[in-house]
Amino acid sequence: MDLTLAYRSLVLQVAEHPWVKGLILRRGRGLYRRYVAGETLEEALKAAEALEKEGVHAILDLLGEMVRSEEEARAFQEEILKLVRALAQKPWPRYVSLKLTQLGLDLSEELALELMRGILREAEAAGVFVRMDMEDSPRVEATLRIYEALRKEGFAGLGLVLQSYLYRTEKDLDWILPYRPNVRLVKGAYKEPKEVAFQDKRLIDAEFLHLMKRMLREGVYVAIATHDPRLIGEAKRYTEAMGIPKDRFEFQLLFGVRPEEQRRLAREGYTVRAYVPYGRFWYPYLSRRIAERPENLWLVVRSLLGG
Ligand code: FAD
Repeated sequence: MDLTLAYRSLVLQVAEHPWVKGLILRRGRGLYRRYVAGETLEEALKAAEALEKEGVHAILDLLGEMVRSEEEARAFQEEILKLVRALAQKPWPRYVSLKLTQLGLDLSEELALELMRGILREAEAAGVFVRMDMEDSPRVEATLRIYEALRKEGFAGLGLVLQSYLYRTEKDLDWILPYRPNVRLVKGAYKEPKEVAFQDKRLIDAEFLHLMKRMLREGVYVAIATHDPRLIGEAKRYTEAMGIPKDRFEFQLLFGVRPEEQRRLAREGYTVRAYVPYGRFWYPYLSRRIAERPENLWLVVRSLLGG
């Protein structure tokens, strides 16, 4: 396993420890502000408006995952519907991301499907695009089944995510290709064992480029979601060389990460979206961001020291 991935695995493991979690929840507020727009919908909309002024569109994401009761899942659905209704009033592109475990996937696939259906009915009427994030490997198959079911029911404004670190992803792409999918391509953010995922950054990057190029060639709309300068550069070069127009793909980055690059890409005429998370349940999201970059450990230390 390479060092960056070993670091990620360690951070994600330590983050689950109740003592660490308690400490970060008490003292890590300064830290969460770097990656999260705020705890309320109003704060998220304000952040989205500021991005719009810079030519970057927002993907609003109500934080929450792995709910443990149907009641909780239904409460999240209600909050997401509030978001959809608020976006319906906005003049900018309307875009939401969510997680199926937020809608009860771990309780039952039928429940998650039913709650997704409710969201999509309102979202389609309001012109809001909805993307299902991809979570860890045990949930991939169910996520794809739900995607397939909803596309068969005729919901068009729905996208999903593929992760280049999983060995299975190319076959998953074959599975969803008939639905003319809108795919966000990412490297993958979870701690995955070597039985299911590449453990070497070079292989994950190579697979990312392979999948990206295949999708672009086959006419799939691709949201290229990475901060990696090499991969962004290669995406630009490839699309230019192949004559793939800028309306066949876009770049997506995370709120708070490389904001100057987000603005630069927008100025160059690319569609750019920033993933804007908000809400009270920020801990797992923040842990994954810390795990992505060894330098981020200093941010944790500084924040715990009150800096
Ligand atoms: P890396 O090789 O990790 O990073 C490249 C460079 O980017 C780093 O050297 C650094 O300069 C910068 N960088 C990367 N991460 C950070 C950070 N946290 N803080 C500061 N700088 C950083 N993963 C999923 O598993 N499922 C999803 O549904 C999903 N959705 C995503 C949506 C968007 C819009 C984005 C951008 C990412 C999403 N991810 C998702 C996360 C993704 O899988 C990666 O974990 C994450 O993007 C980091 O990988 P990278 O491609 O930026 O490359």
